[in-house]
Amino acid sequence: MRTAQCGQLSAADVGRNVELAGWVNRRRDLGKLTFVDLRDSTGLVQLLFGDDRPDLRDAHTVNREDVLVVRGTVARRSPANINPEMKTGEIEVHVEHMSIENRSKTPPFLVEGDGSDATEETRLRYRYVDLRRERLQRTLRVRHRVFKATRDFFSERDFLEVETPVLTKSTPEGARDFLVPSRLHRGSFYALPQSPQLFKQLLMVGGIDRYFQLVKCFRDEDLRADRQPEFTQLDLEVSFPSGPEEIYTLVEGAVAHIYREVLGIELPLPFPRLTHAEAMSRFGIDKPDMRFGMEIRDLSSIARDSGFRVFAEAIASGGKVAGILAKGCAHYSRATLDQLQSVAVAAGAKGLTWVKIEDPIASPIVKLTSPGELEALAAAFGAERGDLLLILAGQGIEKPLGELRLTVARKESLAAQEWRFLWVTEFPLFELDEEGQLASAHHAFTSPRPEYIDRIETDPLHILSNAYDLVVNGTELGSGSIRIHSRELQERIFRRLGITAEDADLRFGWFLQALEYGAPPHGGFALGLDRLVMMMTGEASLRDVIAFPKTANGMCPLTEAPMPAAAKQLDELGIRVEGTC
Ligand code: ASP
Repeated sequence: MRTAQCGQLSAADVGRNVELAGWVNRRRDLGKLTFVDLRDSTGLVQLLFGDDRPDLRDAHTVNREDVLVVRGTVARRSPANINPEMKTGEIEVHVEHMSIENRSKTPPFLVEGDGSDATEETRLRYRYVDLRRERLQRTLRVRHRVFKATRDFFSERDFLEVETPVLTKSTPEGARDFLVPSRLHRGSFYALPQSPQLFKQLLMVGGIDRYFQLVKCFRDEDLRADRQPEFTQLDLEVSFPSGPEEIYTLVEGAVAHIYREVLGIELPLPFPRLTHAEAMSRFGIDKPDMRFGMEIRDLSSIARDSGFRVFAEAIASGGKVAGILAKGCAHYSRATLDQLQSVAVAAGAKGLTWVKIEDPIASPIVKLTSPGELEALAAAFGAERGDLLLILAGQGIEKPLGELRLTVARKESLAAQEWRFLWVTEFPLFELDEEGQLASAHHAFTSPRPEYIDRIETDPLHILSNAYDLVVNGTELGSGSIRIHSRELQERIFRRLGITAEDADLRFGWFLQALEYGAPPHGGFALGLDRLVMMMTGEASLRDVIAFPKTANGMCPLTEAPMPAAAKQLDELGIRVEGTC
């Protein structure tokens, strides 16, 4: 029977007789003495096997990752042997009895350290060994505490955690569905949920009032560096919200609770709110990183009469001139400025104009501008000697300016170690997809703001919605909206999205029907828990906060999923596979 845990022993336990169980972290033989660092989920402790106990002779045969149960007495180490690097470095356990419960093959990598001695593929293939790593143990513990704090928060506020189906019908969130063939209904398929969106709305119709769920969602997306095909979100929905504000208050309260419980950090509430339009015009992005300023400044009023034709023509043709101030960056070399120009061009700008605030002012357009114009531009920014202005002209220059802002901030390490949350609100209802087709900016169940409803047919791209995102340090953590709760409006939106009445009926008839049976006004939100845990633990990859993740190309090196199915299974399903990739 275990009576103590390795990492929890301390000088206060000296003299105690304890039984420990765990894995061999490493072994050192020093003459007749054998030292073993034993590891369990709490950490390491040094075991000392003396030479005076014949029954312990096997100690010098134990190897990394062998499983031991030992009994012994906690003793203070001699001063020369104290290891300040080790939490239990003041003590050791003088072993009196040992049983080798299991032997391990030579592990494919060391459990100590950060795992950089193995490829990620190998680490995932032997994930059960990798999971013993202190870092993974820590992140999974944080993950558990985040989940617990979340459940506590919502439970205390009268939310019900309700499970929604995994084998279901398509719930569109802008990705492809994973399909599951049905054996009993040959030729028919379930879809794995991209989110519980429609079911949580049905829960509101069903009078559940306040729902939440920590739920797996599945999205079959093309390869993207840090995405997982299955991920966990905090999903929630409430009936009769007074408006988006009610959701913001609820969610930011939950986030603050999680930070307090798990990290002991007090987040200032409320989080700032910024409309989508303002985020775009001030930061050139819908998920601004607020840890630094460098806001975009509209320079059109100064550049309107510019001697520099590019500026004047941009404004005359309905565009604008705007820029950012890169503080203290006048020393940037030609190569750096060229690199910034490439960033701007890749994001859609025609070119980049730079102005170095030096004495005299240096810029490729010095000779092309009217006298005093560059000084006026500098003054508009409150620029000082040593600063650099980065200016773009034309249409749609916010996005490239946003990219420049992030690039300079990265170069200058402007982002402090802090948490800057904000709400981005009033997203447009529609956007154009890659094929130039009208698509929902959030999803098709988001309501337009009431004052825009009569523009659905005539001016869809200028409709603002009741959709919102929660953003932290330049990362979108989650999104939500106040929903449509009338069948008529929902059908109008479907029609505008090019979904025929017939198609709408086939795909969503079951849901549309529910809207006719007393659907209450409702709204909600979903937040990516994997990403939240990743940020809270400072990990660089989602894979580091998930026990059994997939690689970036959607494979599981441990189980080798996905795999071809057996011929018998395919026969039963009535499926013939034609070629593989
Ligand atoms: N279903 C949405 C999503 O998964 C969130 C929401 O609108 O509540 O992104």
